[in-house]
Amino acid sequence: MKLSWRIILLWTLPALVIGFFLWQGTFSSAGGDLGRNTASTRMTYGRFLEYLDTGRVTAVDLYENGRTAIVEAVDPDLDNRLQRLRVDLPTNAPELIAKLRESEVTLDAHPPRKDGAIWGLLGNLVFPILLIAGLFFLFRRSSNIGGGPGQAMNFGKSRARFQMEAKTGVLFDDVAGVEEAKEELKEVVTFLKQPERFTAVGARIPKGALLVGPPGTGKTLLAKAIAGEAGVPFFSISGSEFVEMFVGVGASRVRDLFKKAKENAPCLIFIDEIDAVGRQRGAGIGGGNDEREQTLNQLLTEMDGFEGNTGIIIIAATNRPDVLDSALLRPGRFDRQVIVDAPDLKGRIGILEVHARNKKLAPEISIEVIARRTPGFTGADLANLLNEAAILTARRRKEAITMAEVNDAVDRVVAGMEGTPLVDSKSKRLIAYHEIGHAIVGTLLKDHDPVQKVTLIPRGQAQGLTWFTPSEEQGLITRAQLLARISGALGGRAAEEEVFGDAEVTTGAGGDLQQLTSIARQMVTRYGMSDLGSLSLEGQGGEVFLGGGLMSRAEYSEEIAFRIDEQVKRIAEHCHQEARQIIRENRMVIDRLVDLLIEKETIDGEEFRQIVAEYTHVPEKEQYVPQI
Ligand code: ADP
Ligand code: MG
Ligand code: ZN
Repeated sequence: MKLSWRIILLWTLPALVIGFFLWQGTFSSAGGDLGRNTASTRMTYGRFLEYLDTGRVTAVDLYENGRTAIVEAVDPDLDNRLQRLRVDLPTNAPELIAKLRESEVTLDAHPPRKDGAIWGLLGNLVFPILLIAGLFFLFRRSSNIGGGPGQAMNFGKSRARFQMEAKTGVLFDDVAGVEEAKEELKEVVTFLKQPERFTAVGARIPKGALLVGPPGTGKTLLAKAIAGEAGVPFFSISGSEFVEMFVGVGASRVRDLFKKAKENAPCLIFIDEIDAVGRQRGAGIGGGNDEREQTLNQLLTEMDGFEGNTGIIIIAATNRPDVLDSALLRPGRFDRQVIVDAPDLKGRIGILEVHARNKKLAPEISIEVIARRTPGFTGADLANLLNEAAILTARRRKEAITMAEVNDAVDRVVAGMEGTPLVDSKSKRLIAYHEIGHAIVGTLLKDHDPVQKVTLIPRGQAQGLTWFTPSEEQGLITRAQLLARISGALGGRAAEEEVFGDAEVTTGAGGDLQQLTSIARQMVTRYGMSDLGSLSLEGQGGEVFLGGGLMSRAEYSEEIAFRIDEQVKRIAEHCHQEARQIIRENRMVIDRLVDLLIEKETIDGEEFRQIVAEYTHVPEKEQYVPQI
């Protein structure tokens, strides 16, 4: 603060001095008094005498002790219009006064006035004042835009970054698929609506709840629904907005937020991404972040500072509860954790029904079929899916959304925008072999998900795609299923090698390789599915920088690390051989399928299996089908 004021003074003092001289130099010679009465046109003394003689002059006002005169004269050339003209008079012309007296001219003399001097002085002050004001304004503005030492000047207060919604308009009916979370949070609504019920029997009302779950599962929506059901205002702020460059700003925002909330109690405060401020203190590399710690301390202080029955409930959301400071999770703070997970089949049906309310669906559409096609989709994905389908419907000028639009929308949400297919070329052929490679390995391995379709129409990053009917993750996956996935992922590269030779393989398998390496590594280190035995060798994932501990990463020796790599390699090698063998043994049908794919650009799963069945035995697949 001191710094900024010193800077203001340093700037304004020279400016003031310069301004004053400028003013003096430019305007003083004009003389204060006359300035306001100036006639714009000048007339020579000779012409004035001539006018006087011919009787055209009606009035003369003398200024500056008779050195200047403003003359009123009529002009016969211009319909006798009255003109005001300025004349410089000779310093010594007593005969003029006599002459003026003779003619019947209104004569007046204006002595330099006292108040004129005051006006002049004020006038002299106007410029410096304007200058100072201008500088001050500029200074404040630049400090508002951010950065600079001026930041300290408007300390907290003025830039409240939290939002307030008096009425969210969201109800629990608008949230689906997270029934347990909803059940738990219904209680919070009662805390807000009828706190007496709890305090009467001596219960301490919890201050906050922590919503934990991946992005897009409806955490923000749930918080809004609580406020909506209770009919209280909704204050929200994101953890990342607390954390600023300047020490003290985050803490003062927390103070402001709670102050506003107390004024509006009962109400709900929602803190999104709380992990941005609430990370374990003193963790991470290079020590803690002072600003973040101050903000967190302020948050803790504020939470302790009000009693449970003041009618303020704090809901926070995060997808990283593991990095949160334990102080946040102590009783009396966020002592309740509510899991908001990606929805299951039944949940997806519920969410789709919510979002289908305001959409026009063709009667043929079955919400259940859409839900079955979309395992792993979050609420946000499903909302997006129906919206994409509606946009496609409008673009196709249809009356209502049909299954065709929904299917196209699913593809788009999963794999990105459709591109234009390649023209026939060697690389199109290579991509066709690559995709058919995935599809045939996937089809012939009993434990692999069935092929849904193979296509050469590019989407997003991918030049071609093989879609497998996704199976609902039922939680448990067998070793055979994991191995089949690895072989299937290697099918593309194996086909390139078998057909075009080792020298011709492409970068197209990069994504496949990444995927299978990660599966193989997890088999070894997490699931004990290798010769290393039934050991879990992995901590909670290796994100050292994101808090957590530095220690948890390497829980095993160099030697074990070496053996892990060896096992991963062995699994990949085994699956690679399996894939290459399947390609070799089915070369005939592969060539036929490639020709068909290049011709049609898309082959669906049923047709694919029928063609393969003409050449070899296709195993029946068991798929886990969830019951509703
Ligand atoms: P999060 O905060 O968990 O990242 P949001 O609450 O912001 O997710 O969800 C984004 C949008 O997705 C919501 O506005 C809503 O339209 C939709 N959505 C997400 N989850 C659900 C759900 N369980 N039920 C209904 N709609 C949902
Ligand atoms: Mg959110
Ligand atoms: Zn591939």
